[in-house]
Amino acid sequence: RLVSAEANPKESDCQELGIRPQTLEDYIGQKELKKILKIGIAAAQAREESLDHLLLYGPPGLGKTTMSLILASEMGVDCKITAAPALERPRDITGLLVSLKPGDMLFIDEIHRLNRMTEELLYPAMEDYRLDVTIGKGQSAKTRSIPLPRFTLIGATTKVGALTSPLRDRFGLIQRLRFYEVDELTIIVQRTAKILQTLITQEGAVEIARRSRGTPRIANRLLKRVRDYAQVEKVSTIDDKLANIALDVFDVDQKGLDWTDRLVLSTMVEQFGGGPVGLEAIAAATGEDSKTIEEVYEPYLLQIGYLNRTHRGRIVTPQAYEHLGYQGKLF
Ligand code: ADP
Repeated sequence: RLVSAEANPKESDCQELGIRPQTLEDYIGQKELKKILKIGIAAAQAREESLDHLLLYGPPGLGKTTMSLILASEMGVDCKITAAPALERPRDITGLLVSLKPGDMLFIDEIHRLNRMTEELLYPAMEDYRLDVTIGKGQSAKTRSIPLPRFTLIGATTKVGALTSPLRDRFGLIQRLRFYEVDELTIIVQRTAKILQTLITQEGAVEIARRSRGTPRIANRLLKRVRDYAQVEKVSTIDDKLANIALDVFDVDQKGLDWTDRLVLSTMVEQFGGGPVGLEAIAAATGEDSKTIEEVYEPYLLQIGYLNRTHRGRIVTPQAYEHLGYQGKLF
């Protein structure tokens, strides 16, 4: 799916690496976050300490991993990257923790998905830089404490509410990443175009930015597809007209919605009178997974005011009716 904000495993790391900002200056937008982290970095450096544990939350593709790598490079330390699903057995997390050097960062993506055992190993590690391991089984089992170097844990999650409170409470900083404005995404598109050695006009970049669902990862992906289209059509410079035509071909509409977004909204209108309707009912009627709807499609539809969440269920707003062309039919 072109407008999915989730990382696409097929997009190779080196493709991502080339365009991933490496410094705070290159990291566009998120002004509040940058301000707070700059203070944290300066204070930690002045005290010659590691940065406090940091929890970053927000929809996928907004720059959580990127920010962690930048923080590590600003602090002059290494950053190990993992994700909760890869930390199934206790030895997965203990192995990582004992391999850290003083000051290093450990980035755990999807941290709300940690299993209990792994999470409990993290508590003393985060709080006292200590690893409590049990050796042996049954009556002869003994607990041993292994000291760890001071390190910074960076947790990333799309669902901050799903974290247990003992884990959440152990983060010194909890920061939310916001959807990006069109002018910020325009700069990101222009920057990526330059790296990809692709010519693009200001208007062309704005057009792509407008359809990127407030998300840098999507902006970069759309740019790559428009660039393919330009190449096939033998056009040397991407302008707004070409971007428009190409994105229509890829079925990404003026608001960045694709076929599935429109299916979700039109199903709610046509089968449920616009709501309120529960998530499971929407999932059943559209054949989509309810978690995917909740975590991937819905955040942006809520953000642009096309959906509202009430305690009785989801409601389609008049703006969405208008966008879908229902105006006059139902109002
Ligand atoms: P997340 O970890 O939140 O899912 P990533 O950090 O992997 O998101 O970001 C996805 C891509 O978007 C990165 O490869 C990077 O190229 C781009 N990106 C993210 N944030 C920014 C930003 N603030 N400025 C420029 N590019 C960004």
